Amino acid sequence: MKGKIIIISAPSGCGKSTIIRSIMERGNVNLSFSVSATNRPPRPGETDGVNYHFISTEEFQDAIERGDFVEYEEVYPGRFYGTLKSEIIHRCEAGETVVLDIDVKGGIRVKEMFGDDALSLYIMPPSVEELRRRLEGRATDSPEAIDQRVSKAEYELSFAPRYDTCVVNDDLSAAIAETESKIMNFTAK
Ligand code: ADP
Ligand code: 5GP
Repeated sequence: MKGKIIIISAPSGCGKSTIIRSIMERGNVNLSFSVSATNRPPRPGETDGVNYHFISTEEFQDAIERGDFVEYEEVYPGRFYGTLKSEIIHRCEAGETVVLDIDVKGGIRVKEMFGDDALSLYIMPPSVEELRRRLEGRATDSPEAIDQRVSKAEYELSFAPRYDTCVVNDDLSAAIAETESKIMNFTAK
């Protein structure tokens, strides 16, 4: 495989999307974002085909049956997310560096599949309390969804030691710089 895969995981609200977006905007490293499919509804400001391919539960099921996914997970009850083969295979063959923002189980699975062609990077929150504050501040999820995401965070954090490397997102600019430098070192190899 000519290209490389960067797997970024973290509990929801740790700042993954913010960090990935900033690195892509800075443009110091050329990254291609793998747009996952999901059956969750779009949040305000999210665009179909940009943040996710927003599809129905039936369409998601059909995609599973066709074998369209590299991996997929029911990340929250009834909420499915999957990495599409069409988002990564051709781009990797063309030598691009493809970034995946995926949950811990999917992340570990993709790392096992791609081995040394993939870097798995875990973004940690300074604390679970701060994570809750960020989810509340983002104001995109209902109080029930926030409780669900916070209670899942401790379980998800237990996967961090299985990743190649970790970045603590306390000061945002420092976390962006550190993540960017780890990606650059990996792609330069
Ligand atoms: P994720 O993609 O991991 O779910 P987001 O990137 O949406 O998380 O970040 C969650 C919220 O936290 C957003 O409102 C974002 O602006 C904010 N945020 C991200 N990083 C920091 C940071 N280092 N300090 C304070 N707030 C942050
Ligand atoms: P959100 O609903 O906050 O966008 O995402 C919820 C969780 O689903 C996050 O942990 C995110 O990384 C994960 N996720 C997004 N896309 C995929 C995917 O294609 N596969 C898997 N396994 N998880 C995903």
